[in-house]
Amino acid sequence: MLDNALRLQYLHALGIDVWIPKANNVQPPCVMANETPILAPALATETATGDWQALETAVAGCSRCGLCSTRNQTVFGTGDRQADWLFVGEGPGQHEDEQGKPFVGNAGQLLTEMIRAIGLSRDAVFITNMVKCRPPGNRDPHSDEIASCHPYLQQQINLIQPKIIVALGRVAAQKLLKTEASLAQLRGKAHDFSGIPLVVVYHPAYLLRSLLEKRKAWQDLQFAMGLCSRL
Ligand code: URA
Repeated sequence: MLDNALRLQYLHALGIDVWIPKANNVQPPCVMANETPILAPALATETATGDWQALETAVAGCSRCGLCSTRNQTVFGTGDRQADWLFVGEGPGQHEDEQGKPFVGNAGQLLTEMIRAIGLSRDAVFITNMVKCRPPGNRDPHSDEIASCHPYLQQQINLIQPKIIVALGRVAAQKLLKTEASLAQLRGKAHDFSGIPLVVVYHPAYLLRSLLEKRKAWQDLQFAMGLCSRL
């Protein structure tokens, strides 16, 4: 782990302004009033643990699509399995494929800052991708690869039951929402994913290349926080 000073230096060298949570704007994680658990807590925990283990095992050994032949390892996702916030990217890159964790490269550093900017830590949210294996050369995942992997993502969503889903970038947004609309058209709106509010934010890798769009990304995150606080 980078210490804070080094991390700031690193981000500065990349030309990235650090996202500082704005105390007045930060909303607490979403909490649903009158929430009734479906199962008694002990039983729910036991069942969920078993389900998570089975799912992780299935993903680790997956050969549903061609990406399995070029991956080093699958990238399941990390974070709080009961998180209010679920972040979904498109697919692992080289660093993620090497480390088995999502968003650990440069884009991941920026995503971490974005999450901090909404007053949360990476451990308090869940981060995963549309596909769990690296597309060779970091190309966009193909539609059939996303379709093959979708049951895993769906099962993660079922288990986490997030209050809000943040789609990171065009690929995740278009595939989750089953639309060809552009990211510019999709951002700034509350969409619906099977009853869960979904917001679209620029992909951090894109923000690294287009620093001017960071303002819009911050607006999108504020929009998501506002939405979350009303749930
Ligand atoms: N880009 C993604 O979409 N996901 C990752 O895990 C890393 C980079």
